[in-house]
Amino acid sequence: MTTATATDSGPGPGPGPALITCDRLVRVFSTAGVEVQALQGLNLVVREGELMALVGASGSGKSTLMNILAGLDTPTAGAARVADRDLLTMTAADRLSYRRETVGFVWQQTSRNLLPYLTAAQNAALPLQLAGSRRHRGRRIRAQRALELLELLHVADCRDRHPHELSGGQQQRVAIAVALANNPAVLLADEPTGELDSGTAAQIFDAFRTANETLGTTIVIVTHDQAVAGEVRRTVAIRDGRTSTEVLRRSEVDAGTGRETVVAREYAMLDRAGRLQLPADYVRALDMRDRVALELETDHIAVRPDDSGEGRA
Ligand code: ADP
Ligand code: MG
Repeated sequence: MTTATATDSGPGPGPGPALITCDRLVRVFSTAGVEVQALQGLNLVVREGELMALVGASGSGKSTLMNILAGLDTPTAGAARVADRDLLTMTAADRLSYRRETVGFVWQQTSRNLLPYLTAAQNAALPLQLAGSRRHRGRRIRAQRALELLELLHVADCRDRHPHELSGGQQQRVAIAVALANNPAVLLADEPTGELDSGTAAQIFDAFRTANETLGTTIVIVTHDQAVAGEVRRTVAIRDGRTSTEVLRRSEVDAGTGRETVVAREYAMLDRAGRLQLPADYVRALDMRDRVALELETDHIAVRPDDSGEGRA
């Protein structure tokens, strides 16, 4: 298998093998003769068992990426693999089983996640019925599994209520239960707390963490919420349809005081051709433009503003 080795190396986002691999992913939308390059050669590796956040300005391509990973949209070019499925060459039948068995998703609009005429418990049992899983054959077994998930997400008391009888936060918890019902390899959430106040958003985030820690589900969350992004070990920023920088956080225990602190470090993506995108604020801080001076040192590369005085406007 030839996957993105460039992004595979380095500090490494986690211990598990790669579960999601996007290699130079491109998605071009053409509407009324106008082309929009929503993804412009995006590289991303997500490892099994990770809980990570994707951040980026509006229009940077986050939802386009999520729709591709969810099997709802197909890339224009590049490679995308999730749990050993090739998202570019899947047949329509593969795509359907992929959506029903391999991925679960939670969307921002609480109304998009649940069927209004079913109760919370019926919503959570529905994916099991649709997938026709052998393990969950029989209505009683499915109802039991649905209830266990509602319990895990602290909404078991809502089991007999319809979505309109639930708060926004309860609806999203039930939505997470629905998304987890078939024990998917990956749970994708596109701004799942976008319609919630910050207190409720923090609780929903805890629900994702519970799912990740208890069930081991790999989770990718798109979020605008800095507080949420600060809670995960790894945050990848998308800029203009490409992954630009990522922040890794790890806890360090002070040997003297025994106090635990979280250390965050910023990384940039390096593609196979050696291309690197510097964070915009770094570039601005040193007024770098057009050309920079490079020096290879024994253990690092120095990047300085162009001091040649030649050819600069
Ligand atoms: P984000 O989720 O980061 O806000 P999107 O992935 O929704 O960004 O959009 C990325 C770019 O692609 C935007 O310029 C958007 O207008 C465009 N785009 C997204 N979906 C479509 C579509 N179905 N048709 C045309 N353009 C689209
Ligand atoms: Mg979006």
